[in-house]
Amino acid sequence: SNIVAIVGRPNVGKSTLFNRLLERREAIVDSTAGVTRDRHYGKSDWNGVDFTVIDTGGYDVGTDDIFEEEIRKQVQLAVDEATSIIFMMNVEEGLTDTDQEIYRLLRRSNKLIYIVINKVDSSKEELPATEFYQLGIDKYYTLSSATGSGTGDLLDDIVKDFPTTEYKDPFEGLPKITIAGRPNVGKSTMTNALLDVERNIVTDIAGTTRDSIQTLYNKFGHEFVLVDTAGMRRKSKVNEDLEFYSVMRSIRSIEYSDVVIIMVDATQGWESQDMNIFGLAQKNRKGIVILVNKWDLVEDKQTNTMRDFEKAIKDKIGQFQDIPILFVSALTKQRILKAVDVAMEVYEDRKKKIKTSKLNEVMLPIFENTPPPALKGKYIKIKYCVQLPTPSPQFVFFCNLPQYVKEPYKRFTENQLRKEFGFTGVPIEVYFRQK
Ligand code: GDP
Repeated sequence: SNIVAIVGRPNVGKSTLFNRLLERREAIVDSTAGVTRDRHYGKSDWNGVDFTVIDTGGYDVGTDDIFEEEIRKQVQLAVDEATSIIFMMNVEEGLTDTDQEIYRLLRRSNKLIYIVINKVDSSKEELPATEFYQLGIDKYYTLSSATGSGTGDLLDDIVKDFPTTEYKDPFEGLPKITIAGRPNVGKSTMTNALLDVERNIVTDIAGTTRDSIQTLYNKFGHEFVLVDTAGMRRKSKVNEDLEFYSVMRSIRSIEYSDVVIIMVDATQGWESQDMNIFGLAQKNRKGIVILVNKWDLVEDKQTNTMRDFEKAIKDKIGQFQDIPILFVSALTKQRILKAVDVAMEVYEDRKKKIKTSKLNEVMLPIFENTPPPALKGKYIKIKYCVQLPTPSPQFVFFCNLPQYVKEPYKRFTENQLRKEFGFTGVPIEVYFRQK
């Protein structure tokens, strides 16, 4: 989808606008510890048009002095990743040298740039804002990101200007699998191992979606597209250590994929960044397989070691635990084909549609036996259920008093669905509705 980046000096009000755009929507990624707690990526929509917002200020350190380092990275990030760039300045401080420098960098790009003057809270501040014409621009938007005034006009234009050329997916309809994970867990080794096992690559198209390479495999008894977060291969103009970059890349690959293989390093365990990737895959309702790589380095390969590892992961990932965890070695190629088999199983399960008759036949007796607990003397009766025609499984249960069905019962329902129909590695949504 289209990406809108917000760029500007520290403290001009980027995060306030960002949070406003994400209102009612949940930010998807929380940055990992050590950088900043700010959320900096999320989904928004305007006039029914969905887009992604990046707050490039996640790396603000609160002073202009760091211009060379941080702001340049920020601008580069926006220029590399975004469709549209909101360049925010601030009427209180007026046009600063840093602003001019940022604009100089931005205008060299061919991205759509929206100049925004923030903290224009009342009409009396419209006049001082005119000093920004010194940038040599024809138009700017004034707004108050604190109250939200002015955001509508800005968004109207941003959304209207989105490029309309629909991206044509050359692999439409084929299973898409991505290997995600922290640097050095072995993603490239795994990709190369898959390439080496059987040299039967039909297509290797670079740049079909920006910054990723997709390889079509039709071997191992399966046909699938491996989406490579090529950001991990490609040398960026910006420091590779910019974690935000690799997060953005993973986000794009994950959104494009059906199944996400989350690779972790057996010598390191499950860490917060793994949790972020997991959260992303789950919230995007993608199939998930966890691979514990470098198993060759683990000396004590007892069943217990595996079980402990599995438990350590499951203790951290929360509710959704019905996920395949495999122990592999990309280096020695041990079990990597098994990993492909399992990912394909998850793919099939995610697509699976349970016939309405079958669903009712199986689920209604379960509800009959274990109905939702009555609330305020009222009994809840579930009458009918359907699976929606969505890309990932979503079920609707029609009943008389859906508002009385609480979280534990929804979980019970999900678990029963998993038990009866098997959706291993696949996030499921369960809704209760009035008929
Ligand atoms: P990426 O950043 O996730 O793509 O990780 P790489 O594939 O570049 O691997 C990082 C390092 O780990 C390299 O030195 C690999 O040789 C090594 N490595 C990857 N997989 C394995 C494995 O299964 N076993 C061992 N012992 N080393 C591995």
